[in-house]
Amino acid sequence: MLKTPDTTLLRTVGEERAALNVIGGRMVGAQSGARIEVACPSDGKVFASVPQSGEVDVDAAVRSARQAFETGPWSRMTAAERGRILSRLSALVEVHADELAALESRDTGKPARQGVADVTAAIRYYEYYGGAADKAHGDQIPFLDGYTAFTSREPHGVVAGIIPWNYPLQILARVAGAALAMGNTLVIKPAEDASLTSLRIADLALEAGCPAGVFNVVTGYGGEAGAALSAHPGVDYVTFTGSTGTGTAIQQAAALNNRGVTMELGGKSPQILFADADLDAALPVVVNAIIQNGGQTCSAGSRLLVEKPIHDEVMAALARSFSALVAEPHHADGDLGPLINARQAERVAAMIEAAEKDGAEIVAQGSVADDAPEGGHYRAPVLFGGVDPLSQLAQEEVFGPVLAAFSFEGEEEAVRLANGTQYGLVAGVWTRDGGRQHRVARRIRAGQVYVNAYGAGGGVELPFGGFGRSGHGREKGFEALYDMSATKTTVFRHI
Ligand code: NAP
Ligand code: MG
Repeated sequence: MLKTPDTTLLRTVGEERAALNVIGGRMVGAQSGARIEVACPSDGKVFASVPQSGEVDVDAAVRSARQAFETGPWSRMTAAERGRILSRLSALVEVHADELAALESRDTGKPARQGVADVTAAIRYYEYYGGAADKAHGDQIPFLDGYTAFTSREPHGVVAGIIPWNYPLQILARVAGAALAMGNTLVIKPAEDASLTSLRIADLALEAGCPAGVFNVVTGYGGEAGAALSAHPGVDYVTFTGSTGTGTAIQQAAALNNRGVTMELGGKSPQILFADADLDAALPVVVNAIIQNGGQTCSAGSRLLVEKPIHDEVMAALARSFSALVAEPHHADGDLGPLINARQAERVAAMIEAAEKDGAEIVAQGSVADDAPEGGHYRAPVLFGGVDPLSQLAQEEVFGPVLAAFSFEGEEEAVRLANGTQYGLVAGVWTRDGGRQHRVARRIRAGQVYVNAYGAGGGVELPFGGFGRSGHGREKGFEALYDMSATKTTVFRHI
């Protein structure tokens, strides 16, 4: 039996907990009393529950965010004061780092060290945006004689953030850090599969001095609470990270209210290995880029393009690495954990089966630990070779530990294949040739291009976002502050 809701929220990990929404600075259940059970992906066992919020709960959260934006102390604070609250939140996340890392790892099944990496990035996001809050200012513009003109950066108002289950701590931090730094108020809808750390962070934000109503979190199903939030007329801006299909639905809802959106919709990101690449440096990064978080990463390096002269050598080396990979429960801190839920595990299995039917060859696969609990959602990592660049495996996001490798000849073909999907989120280019590094990096259509690297240290400072079906708008870095505000131009005539 689950415990009845308590007002201390989630202060411990390891016992069944009934978590509550954070609305208007108070911890409350869904008005209907309905709850969603929270299971650990490593064993499928229920260990907590969250409110199954509906339209009324979302409405209460949006109203409290609106009130806090228009009348509360938040609207009178200086940018420096807002920054100080974010810095305090960063410090509090650090104080509670072990608890948050363990909770995230248990809720999502990610290996323990990935939970720690996610908390470390979250600490850095709140620190970064705390420091940036009073530095995102406008310009004075030379204009007509007898006039003074300047721009200022105004908050949108109430920002709705719809967060996925793969990196809740990190994605919440990049959304909340930038939105709060610019003076917006927030209503967050985390994914029903991984809501616990978002609730805990909203609790810590109150402790850090965030006024009531500034940082609200409502949990529930996407089609219910998420849809109600994205259609709510009281929301001024929506930021979404997740699947392309859900992103389309959210943009359609936003269009009915003519409001702005940031869309971060995943990718099919290539890593290109030229024949002169430093393979000792490249190959461990190539493997990690597809198994990190079980491949459930929007920026996963899910396509590998290998130049012909080194193709066989690279595939043989990767086959050895893949064969040794083991999926284990989160607490074993193995190469990878389970996938988030049964649906995702089935989806990955179906895509592997379809790829084989399409003629792709399984070059190597890892294993699932013998003692992995029956109820967990494990999938062994798979390395595919000889993939048809137009097949589903080459074109669509698997969101699992599945790497699709192809060969190419020369720069032209490398660029054509790299740009040959509808996505454009991240790319990696591996070559020692300086001219080629610049030529290829420049021609790749992606929000981030890494040369002789792939992803780096969380990338809090680095603007991030997509081209094409990977979405639009930019998160992370200073650039996110522009998405989270609107420019106002003020003109004075000297009469
Ligand atoms: P999803 O549907 O895009 O979920 C992302 C978020 O949107 C969750 O909070 C979800 O809530 C919410 N949501 C779902 N339907 C909604 C609606 N109609 N209106 C408003 N919000 C809604 O992703 P998913 O179904 O969990 O995963 C499916 C696929 O999405 C994956 O296989 C992967 O390809 C992709 N994905 C990409 C990312 C990324 O970082 N780019 C992250 C996650 C998933 P609930 O989860 O509570 O329903
Ligand atoms: Mg969970």
